[in-house]
Amino acid sequence: MARKKIIAGNWKMNMTPSEAVELINTLKPLVATEKADVVFCVPAIDIIPAMEAAKGSNIQIGAENMYFEEKGAYTGEISPAMLTDVGVKYVIIGHSERREYFAETDETVNKKVLKAFEHGITPIVCCGETLTQREQGVTIDFIRQQIKIAFLNVTADQAKTAVIAYEPIWAIGTGKTATSDQAQEVCSAIRACIREIYDEATAEAIRIQYGGSVNASTAAELFAKPDIDGGLVGGAALKPDFGKIVNY
Ligand code: PEP
Repeated sequence: MARKKIIAGNWKMNMTPSEAVELINTLKPLVATEKADVVFCVPAIDIIPAMEAAKGSNIQIGAENMYFEEKGAYTGEISPAMLTDVGVKYVIIGHSERREYFAETDETVNKKVLKAFEHGITPIVCCGETLTQREQGVTIDFIRQQIKIAFLNVTADQAKTAVIAYEPIWAIGTGKTATSDQAQEVCSAIRACIREIYDEATAEAIRIQYGGSVNASTAAELFAKPDIDGGLVGGAALKPDFGKIVNY
């Protein structure tokens, strides 16, 4: 069965709650499609107003992060139950900015992935190499390690529903999109890694996005590749251009 594309926006630390409502009202008609899942991952404080604004549309609201404990003395963190209580179904886990600025590791990513599944939230698990790693020729080895650790103790049935976002760090926010062949090569290696860990059915079911300066003119070629099932979009998700990406 063909995998349904999933196009997700990562708003990062942008948009106040009132700006979020305005942006969703602008984008709603532009992203209306049944062909792909459309997810807006927004700052925690925007989730509730974004849910309200998106009501009745095809837009699903996701979170950008979540903690791996149930509750307690973790000042400033958001728990999985807080997300599910308001209807969140997707959460970005292990974005490279969280790894770089907030000390997230493959181990914390794994804990968060397991916790998200425990609560019925679909993780969008991010992986991606630095420019140095690409130049050293270790991209695939590095990504395989990230994936293997992120999916430790995740069952095949859970993995089938997961989303992986391949985001080369050198392409994020730089305006430098990976070529469709570079992106396909790594996404195909990720699927092969999932096949190795689990089986063919899991590898065929899991959805793998490309992320890194995706825009209206690069989306179609990237998303046409056999192992690229959509995109995780940063900067362009805050503009009407996101409609063009969704309807690539
Ligand atoms: C991202 O933040 O996940 C991302 C891919 O950003 P951008 O599209 O701006 O490169």
